[in-house]
Amino acid sequence: MTSEIKKIIEKPELSRDEIIMLLSVDSEAESQLIFEKAFAIKNHIHGSKIYLRGLIELTNKCLKNCYYCGIRSGNKNATRYELSEKEALQAAVLAWEQGFGSIVIQSGELKSEVFASKIERLLQQIHHKTNNELSVTLSCGEQTLDTYKRWVVAGAHRYLLRIESSNETLYYKIHPNDQMHDFQTRLQALHDLRTAGFLVGTGVMIGLPEQTIAHLADDLLFFKNFGVDMVGMGPYLEHHETPLFEKNHLLWSESTRFQKSLLMIAILRIMMPHINIAASTALETLNPLGRQKGILAGANVIMPNVTPLEKKINYDLYDKKPHLYNDTEKIVQAAKQIRDTNFLNGG
Ligand code: SAH
Ligand code: SF4
Repeated sequence: MTSEIKKIIEKPELSRDEIIMLLSVDSEAESQLIFEKAFAIKNHIHGSKIYLRGLIELTNKCLKNCYYCGIRSGNKNATRYELSEKEALQAAVLAWEQGFGSIVIQSGELKSEVFASKIERLLQQIHHKTNNELSVTLSCGEQTLDTYKRWVVAGAHRYLLRIESSNETLYYKIHPNDQMHDFQTRLQALHDLRTAGFLVGTGVMIGLPEQTIAHLADDLLFFKNFGVDMVGMGPYLEHHETPLFEKNHLLWSESTRFQKSLLMIAILRIMMPHINIAASTALETLNPLGRQKGILAGANVIMPNVTPLEKKINYDLYDKKPHLYNDTEKIVQAAKQIRDTNFLNGG
């Protein structure tokens, strides 16, 4: 088996069966072979550099009702907030002053004209205040092609919209089966984003109830076939006030979800050497060194949270979200420490 793994990771193209075989490894030694190959590819293509993207959680107000998410509109216990333009701008400037090259503005899915124009103004102000030196990624859910175009014109560069699962049947097990959560609409949104001029990122949750290794292999092939520019993916983590919490008995153990998440990163790096891959914050919920291990498995981006402390405590996607009570200074320091670690010497 080990010699077969060694052979597969050297191939320029992986078949579905080969991806399934890599995702199925469970020995430490075999996983390590895959991680080391992916890390070597990352270093060869991207150098030892790790990119920091400051994450601004603009609002936890959301019109949607995804079954896994703690800020879904149906969760009446969520305390809702929305950063003012001034607060969001301050967070962006802080990231810039810290030397970050880019930020991510993320939010629940709001579709009003008020929201679209708020983002538009915010983009313009951010570029004005930061000498056009910040690259901006948006992650604000499904919008119209026209809205995407407006945001590109206002200066957004990238857009992150996870497909969550590329398997339609599984998609409807984690979302209501209605017009607002339509699988085809989500796929179309990814195409519209590209049409609008964005660099497009997507991703999935790993270890969802009823998800199989074959689903995950198909997710990786989906990223490859779409030709995504970046991927942010991480373990599914339960939130006690969501419908999916009732399926907890079906979940893989936390350590399996963690291990499969690292394998997903590593195999994707082998399949798509040039793209940006984030070591998600959710990895850290399952292991205090989660992000570092993500980098050692081939990720090259981390996203420290720069949202003001008193607001972000309510951006409650899943239980046990890391750094919830840490202030920005501490978070930025920890992220810079990871960036400046010499991983080539074993971390
Ligand atoms: N509303 C936007 C962006 C905010 S949600 C959107 O949905 O696209 C950002 C991401 O958080 C989602 O794409 C989802 O993959 C992730 N997320 C939500 N709930 C989660 C959970 N319980 N466990 C792990 N990730 C979760
Ligand atoms: Fe809203 Fe995004 Fe959460 Fe779905 S995942 S409920 S769209 S914030």
